[in-house]
Amino acid sequence: MNDVASVPARRGLLLIVSSPSGAGKTTLTRLLLAEDKAMHLSLSVTTRPRRGSEIDGVHYRFVDAGTFETMREHGELLESAKVHGNYYGTPRAPVEEALAAGRDVLFDIDWQGTMQIYDKMRPDIVSVFILPPSVSELKARLERRAEDSPEVIMRRLQNSRVEISHWTKYDYVLVNQDLQTTYGRLKEILDVERMKRQDKSVVACLVEKLKADLDALMRK
Ligand code: 5GP
Repeated sequence: MNDVASVPARRGLLLIVSSPSGAGKTTLTRLLLAEDKAMHLSLSVTTRPRRGSEIDGVHYRFVDAGTFETMREHGELLESAKVHGNYYGTPRAPVEEALAAGRDVLFDIDWQGTMQIYDKMRPDIVSVFILPPSVSELKARLERRAEDSPEVIMRRLQNSRVEISHWTKYDYVLVNQDLQTTYGRLKEILDVERMKRQDKSVVACLVEKLKADLDALMRK
């Protein structure tokens, strides 16, 4: 038997990326998902109306308020929150399955959801908060997207104040001045966090095997 090959793969990690609306989080997470085939998006459910560019089942599962409430009552959501007047939630089953299978999961969720997942799964979590370099840049990015009404944009800007005040609860903070630089840093964080987890599980398994083999040797 090949000892190294028999060592189980590490548990999957949960990468949470949060930011105020318009800080570039969605662009960053889409880049990561396109490039990193080991990373799987946690597909949220939401009661928010679908934007023109969004596809049901790809960007979100769009549901009505009744369906959302039923899912929550039945314990099907790992976390849920009201954000900008709509409900959002993370289906539990796909996350638990991915973790057990050693797959990494990416969450694009707000600070309220992050706090709820921390309570349940802290050791598996790596959390990153993305800050915009300035309010003018935040506003410009929301306007460039051109998919929300001026009222929705103003509400999102107003809510940013609360969102950014939670940056201290995250493992890492990145200021998204330049998209490529921020993306590079995000990948570095992921590399290091994967390595940390890999090393621990591999070393622990190897040590157990060495101990068992030493015991066997001593008994001979
Ligand atoms: P948007 O409507 O722009 O897609 O998302 C609005 C906010 O809701 C973003 O900050 C996004 O991260 C957050 N969000 C998206 N899905 C979830 C979710 O499943 N749970 C929580 N708590 N927040 C979410």
